[in-house]
Amino acid sequence: MAEERKTAERAKERAEMLRLIDAEVAETAHWLGKDKLDPRVREALARTPRHAFVPRMEEAYAYENQPLPIGLGQTISQPYIVAIMTDQANIGPGSRVLEVGTGSGYQAAVLAELGCEVWSIETVPELAEAAAKRLKELGYGKVHCRRGDGAKGWPEAAPFDAILVTAAATAIPPALIDQLKHGGRMIIPLGPPDGAIRFTSTQDLLRIEKAGDGSVTKQVVLPVAFVPLITPPEDAAREENGGED
Ligand code: SAH
Repeated sequence: MAEERKTAERAKERAEMLRLIDAEVAETAHWLGKDKLDPRVREALARTPRHAFVPRMEEAYAYENQPLPIGLGQTISQPYIVAIMTDQANIGPGSRVLEVGTGSGYQAAVLAELGCEVWSIETVPELAEAAAKRLKELGYGKVHCRRGDGAKGWPEAAPFDAILVTAAATAIPPALIDQLKHGGRMIIPLGPPDGAIRFTSTQDLLRIEKAGDGSVTKQVVLPVAFVPLITPPEDAAREENGGED
């Protein structure tokens, strides 16, 4: 009975979170080029239990429209950001999506709730392991996880309908452009690492489209503040040696 009450309470909290996201989408319509989310994206957000993706001590804040710490210096993105990244990718049931930066696994779960098959890469071993376990326990069988440098993509599963990069890159990784389908889209924050002042926007969220003829166009969606994309030391050393595995 107590469990049922909790479930109903959380559904209510998610509905309130969606109200806040809708308001922010409307406020930023001039950036986004639209004032409403795809209803399927909204429904996916309404179904995804964000409280299961945050540390226990943050659970009470799980449905506030803000990023939260998940340990090891990383964060779970703000729900509004997850909403617009998913929306701007223009995907739906059956889409094949690559996510760079699994973090807590929340964004991957939202994509799975939308009906996508997801390949998600995380560089921090502890986070990669915890997210893979969590997603499995929650029944997200359509999410494939691995530890590695997401800038190299997941060539065996390519090409992808969409690629979502959830950490800020200083340059667009060429491997990710290669792994995008013709007609596909990549959503990626580009710019210098977030400075000393937290939550100031230092990067541009870009929508990169690969046309049918393979040509690539870029458009700024929004100013954003993401944690930086890290080049794992062992991968950097390997690159310097000019070698593969
Ligand atoms: N999408 C996540 C939030 C990600 S925060 C969520 O829904 O919770 C960004 C994540 O990117 C962090 O966990 C960070 O460790 C990871 N990351 C940074 N550089 C990376 C790289 N080169 N490859 C894969 N993951 C990376």
